[in-house]
Amino acid sequence: MKAACEKSQAVCTSLKKEKKTVAPPKLFDLTALQREANRLYGFTAKQTLDYAQALYEKRLLTYPRTDSKYITSDMQDSTKELITGLCSLLPFMRDVKLQADLTRVCDNSKVTDHHAILPTAEFLKTGFSSLTDSETKLMTLVCAKLLCAAAAPYEYEAVTAVISCGGYTFTAKGKTTLCEGWREIEKLSRAASEEQDEDAEPETVLPPLAEGQTFDNPAAEISECYTQPPKAYTEDTLLSAMENAGKEETPEDAERKGLGTTATRAGIIEKLISAGFAERKGKKLIPTKDGYNLAAILPDSLTSPQLTAEWGTRLTGIAKGSDSPADFMRGIEEMTAGLVKTYSAISEDKAKLFTPQREAIGTCPRCGAAVYEGKKNFYCSDRACSFVMWKNDRFFEQRKKAFTKAIAAALLKDGKVKIKGMYSTKTGKTFDGVVLLADTGGKYVNFRVEQNRK
Ligand SMILES: [Zn+2]
Repeated sequence: MKAACEKSQAVCTSLKKEKKTVAPPKLFDLTALQREANRLYGFTAKQTLDYAQALYEKRLLTYPRTDSKYITSDMQDSTKELITGLCSLLPFMRDVKLQADLTRVCDNSKVTDHHAILPTAEFLKTGFSSLTDSETKLMTLVCAKLLCAAAAPYEYEAVTAVISCGGYTFTAKGKTTLCEGWREIEKLSRAASEEQDEDAEPETVLPPLAEGQTFDNPAAEISECYTQPPKAYTEDTLLSAMENAGKEETPEDAERKGLGTTATRAGIIEKLISAGFAERKGKKLIPTKDGYNLAAILPDSLTSPQLTAEWGTRLTGIAKGSDSPADFMRGIEEMTAGLVKTYSAISEDKAKLFTPQREAIGTCPRCGAAVYEGKKNFYCSDRACSFVMWKNDRFFEQRKKAFTKAIAAALLKDGKVKIKGMYSTKTGKTFDGVVLLADTGGKYVNFRVEQNRK
């Protein structure tokens, strides 16, 4: 194929140009802010919530625990003033001419308790001067999002060229920017905060082409590609997955969709980590062995986002007076009783999944099974074998030495261990010596000091 192409002439057989428009982004609700701050700065969802809360308490940011990306129509004028103020406050806006248009983010029906997250008029007065580094980053995101949301759409021309060569057909796609619109502000703000969007896809720019254009002896190259395995979640992508969990099965008009709410998702992620079901590796969230196992044994009814959706809908009904709290609680009781009845006896195999993964410190001198460290002893893992070395063994207590894991490991491995600074009750002094494991198979394991002093 490579040879065939290189020998022949390439012809551009078709060239399609299409004008496309990308609307400006919406304003931030909490989840969207948490996602972007995680993607750009690696902030955890909880950190973002904490920083936003601190900014809110300083009266520089509006209420952060919101799930709306919109403002109400009566806020249009004050928001436009805010934008004018931001344009002169933010250095990266110096050369940008922004004709603010808020129609796309103004929707009274999409604001329930709180509107989208915005900087406040107070922030225009104080600026960034009193803010910590992290607060500055977060504030910059919020300001830039407002400016982007009010800017013009991004317009580009999508070019698709079909080229035939040596009997094969190739397709090339590229973009030509017609109007940067809101993307200019996004780029400037990112550059100002020296943030690179790692996930941004590189754009292909095609050279000017014309239909019927030919190329002689084109250079050909065959490249091998692999499909990538799915990536581990970051808090950014996990928040999105939580927001959209079970969307297909959840009724369109459900009050509560997805897992958790805007205000609780950060806490849910933290809880998974503190309980040991997931761990952070850089930006990635990786399930632990316990995490996998828990997900594997939990009944489907408990892991389904529909349960939360149902409860959410019913709780709203109770708040509105159309549903009865007693009925709801009875339902929960019945469900809990049912679950406990069905799942009270976890099979031994499943229970075993949760025994902590212990590290053997050595092998048992009596039976050869692994020896583990317990709170008070070092014990043989074979229950039928009675080998156990107590940490408070009199031998070590008398000599005023702690019976450490290192000592136990050495005794199991070599049958002896060199110990410095043992106390002698006879002389009242300390001495160095070699301790032997002198096991006789009895209830207690014996130790003795090697006698090699002549
Ligand atoms: Zn044993």
